[in-house]
Amino acid sequence: MVNWTAVGVGFVVTLILGIIGLYVPFLGLLAPIIGGLVAAYMAGGKYIDGIVNGGLAGGIAGFITALIGFALIGAAVSVLTGYAGAGAVIAIIGAITGFIIGAILGLVGGVIGIAIKGKPAEQPMTEPAPVARESPNIEFSMENIQKCICSTCPVQEESECVKEKLKMMQEMMQSEEKMMPNPEDVPGLYCATGKATCEGLDTEKMCNCVNCPIWAENDLANGKPMGYFCRDGKAM
Ligand code: SF4
Ligand code: SF4
Repeated sequence: MVNWTAVGVGFVVTLILGIIGLYVPFLGLLAPIIGGLVAAYMAGGKYIDGIVNGGLAGGIAGFITALIGFALIGAAVSVLTGYAGAGAVIAIIGAITGFIIGAILGLVGGVIGIAIKGKPAEQPMTEPAPVARESPNIEFSMENIQKCICSTCPVQEESECVKEKLKMMQEMMQSEEKMMPNPEDVPGLYCATGKATCEGLDTEKMCNCVNCPIWAENDLANGKPMGYFCRDGKAM
């Protein structure tokens, strides 16, 4: 928050203008304001930064000039009264008063400095957090088994296990009872049930899922894994 370089520059500006102000009316009063303004403008930041940097520049300059001035007055008083402590008390009270007045004027300059420079630009709005995609709930149903095109996929066309399960599944589904097979007996619909239980799949070949109606219906292109559910597990 405190930028000591800026405070130092503001202090020097205040001091120089204060000295010139001994000969120019009102410049002495304006010196801490201008010094505070310079410090705040250099340091930038928010208004609170301007108040701190400007106030310190004006306050320190006020403290030192008042200390010197009141030390001289105090010395004279000490000589005249013969009471050494009087000079020290006058110097200390004068320096503290100088600090307070300089700080008040400096912080006014600090506020002006920030107003001139402009507050830091508002932080850009952070991107809204992406809405988590809900896992698709693909039903293991007769309808979806019939939609699935894994049976025509080149990945599993060489698998004897798949061929056998396909045959058994078709028999079950074409029987009079139209029995519903168990998931492990279906060599497909892996997006719903997970990895294939059969061996002999050649995942070097192209997954067929993108051509499947279930792929489109469940927006699987934006989910994980991207196809190859028989190898990588169910869709999420
Ligand atoms: S999930 Fe994809 S790669 Fe696996 S069998 Fe089905 S279509 Fe082929
Ligand atoms: S998306 Fe792939 S695994 Fe799912 S039903 Fe269609 S072809 Fe079968």
